[in-house]
Amino acid sequence: MAKRNYETLIDRLHNIAAKPNAQLLQIGEFEACGKSYPMFCVRIGKDASAKKRVMINAGIHGDEPGGVEAALAFMDRIATADGLRDRFDFTVLPCNNPTGWERNTRENVNGIDLNREFNAPKPAPEAGIISKTLQGKCFDLIFEMHEDVDCPGFYMYEIAEDPAAYIGEQIIEAAESIGCPINRDECIEGTPAANGLIRPKIVKFRKTRLPLAIFAWRTCGGHVITLEPPVTGLSIEKRVQIQLIALTIALDSLAAAE
Ligand SMILES: [Zn+2]
Repeated sequence: MAKRNYETLIDRLHNIAAKPNAQLLQIGEFEACGKSYPMFCVRIGKDASAKKRVMINAGIHGDEPGGVEAALAFMDRIATADGLRDRFDFTVLPCNNPTGWERNTRENVNGIDLNREFNAPKPAPEAGIISKTLQGKCFDLIFEMHEDVDCPGFYMYEIAEDPAAYIGEQIIEAAESIGCPINRDECIEGTPAANGLIRPKIVKFRKTRLPLAIFAWRTCGGHVITLEPPVTGLSIEKRVQIQLIALTIALDSLAAAE
């Protein structure tokens, strides 16, 4: 596979940021292979007061490009959708592992899985930049766009303080209705699962070397959804479609919970 080019992604972010009510912020920069990699956050929304705050994270695993494409597609859509910009304030970190994304590797160029670097004693620079960005923020919804490169079926993680807020079943049903196979194993990634749904007991979760979803939940609160559409057997368009459908369900549910 030809290497992806981070500069082209930066160009796409600039195009999104040129739309009304969108803002591209550089959140940090790191050096790798003699090159400098700026990292970005896109803020979209008219006025942050009294609106629901949503964070979207993508691309922490470089071999899960559908998440990055879904984040970009979503920003393209909302930057011109008044309804969404009026009701929500979006913070999007669209590509959290630039060197892995360029090389299509899960880990960064130094072989580090960034999704185990949160609250680490000496985190990789990318994780340090993301952590700093999260400090002092709170969100109503944290949406993590992953993909699974091994399993042939879709599954997802969900964390919510109030079980009444759960929307996992609805997302699984929607994914299935557009022809996505569901992973119905009773144990997925070493965690008990039911019908493609994992609701981890995070109270007992370890304190260091955290995945971003757990770290973000502990730092910023909110309802956390992590999607894992299968790379095997599904086109990237279909995987992006699943992410966008799930995000729409999550936003509708958030808007309804006044
Ligand atoms: Zn992943």
